[in-house]
Amino acid sequence: MVLSCHEDDKDAFRRMIHDAAEAILSSFSDDSAFSGIDPYELRREIAKLQLLPEHGSGWDETIRNVREAILPHMLRTWSPSYMPHLHSPALLESIAAELIIAAFNSSMDSWDQGPAATEIEEMTIKQLCSLFGYGSGSDGVFTSGGSQSNISAAVALRDRFIQQKLGWDTKKHGLPEEYRRIRIYTSEISHFSFDKGAHMMGLGYDAVVKLPVDGLERIDTAKAEQIISDDEANGLIPFMIVATIGTTDFGSIDCIGELRAIADRHGMFLHADAAYGSGAVLSSYSHRLGDLSLADSITIDFHKMFLLPISASALLVKERCTLSAFELHADYLNREEDEEDGYINLVGKSMQTTRRFDALKVYVSFRMRGRDGYRQIMDTAIGNAEYFFSEISRDEDFIAPIAPELSSVVFALKGGDERNRKTRRTLLKEGIVIGQTVFRGMVALKFTLLNPALGHDHIDSLIRRIKEIGHSF
Ligand SMILES: *Cc1c(COP(=O)(O)O)cnc(C)c1O
Repeated sequence: MVLSCHEDDKDAFRRMIHDAAEAILSSFSDDSAFSGIDPYELRREIAKLQLLPEHGSGWDETIRNVREAILPHMLRTWSPSYMPHLHSPALLESIAAELIIAAFNSSMDSWDQGPAATEIEEMTIKQLCSLFGYGSGSDGVFTSGGSQSNISAAVALRDRFIQQKLGWDTKKHGLPEEYRRIRIYTSEISHFSFDKGAHMMGLGYDAVVKLPVDGLERIDTAKAEQIISDDEANGLIPFMIVATIGTTDFGSIDCIGELRAIADRHGMFLHADAAYGSGAVLSSYSHRLGDLSLADSITIDFHKMFLLPISASALLVKERCTLSAFELHADYLNREEDEEDGYINLVGKSMQTTRRFDALKVYVSFRMRGRDGYRQIMDTAIGNAEYFFSEISRDEDFIAPIAPELSSVVFALKGGDERNRKTRRTLLKEGIVIGQTVFRGMVALKFTLLNPALGHDHIDSLIRRIKEIGHSF
């Protein structure tokens, strides 16, 4: 029933892991991403399943049921025909690492719930800080994703700002009287987690000012400077500006150097949302990111370009004290007397209490592949985007407005919104899953190329198929 020293339990564990692997492997027989089933039909099928029978079905029957009823309609992230979102296939060794994480079920909140886990996370954070150019005063914590990393950064930097500027302890007293005037500045195409965060922080959506982008979808820094200056002159209180290092749709990269200068001129903090672009730090194109160490905090997602299973993300902060926003002592969990004796409790750095040991996946894949192995993965993704862009740029059926900096390409078939919408739907039914978004008011399609197994010949065949379908409407 649970792991133990008994041979019976060990055998049951081996058998279940083996059966689960076989169920996964027998659930697909080709390279398509999806069965193509229609949502109503799938809902009818799933509605027939019984969650809690009076008498349990036993393992053999349950895994058979999962294999037959559920797995065939799972989305297969490893398919080279899957490219709609920043949603990657998982490297094989990282799936094995997930098994180890689940088996030990460590929790990151206190040292006594994960001694090696705590120390590995701390070591991993330290080395990640140095990978991104942070010095010895830096720190960080693993989170559930880019959203949590961004919102944590906004909360922590807000508290520091208000303490410094207004001499007010937000953690203790709540928002200061001036709260309606506090502003966050982000690109108009930044991730929505800052809006959600502003709501949760009691500041509201109005506190997030959207800065216009230039022709390459990067914050227009001259306009940004003007907007912030005007806001200040009108009595508003700018506290943070966000550089998106890889926007979700285009992969465009805001100029961190210029945003640092703006932040300094107005006494603001600078956060780098590198949820997407952070992976490129290991590529041959790392110079495109700019110097991320200029930011006061950095969001990294490992479940995007780094190809690790969901969830795996980290927030790095240049100055350790930033994370003290999340410190709180509980008698049952993180006693101060223990921490003085070296039993560190990471709960004091996180919004979460019980928390997964995601750092192990990073350790296993980084260690196994090394810089050269990861460079090859990242270069393949970025190179594929360049290849796709160059092919469609010289094809008169397509519009391809922006050359990719990372691994995403937004494009459209000529002939209007309806043709693009219908083409995507038709592809979905064929098990080819691509993205759809809006570019300057028109429906656009999107390739997000994260899969290192994707080759140019497959890209060529996708282009051919898209053209064929497009012409049929
Ligand atoms: C994906 C993404 C996020 C959100 O990250 P999650 O891990 O999905 O929570 C935030 N910012 C950017 C730029 C992203 O691409």
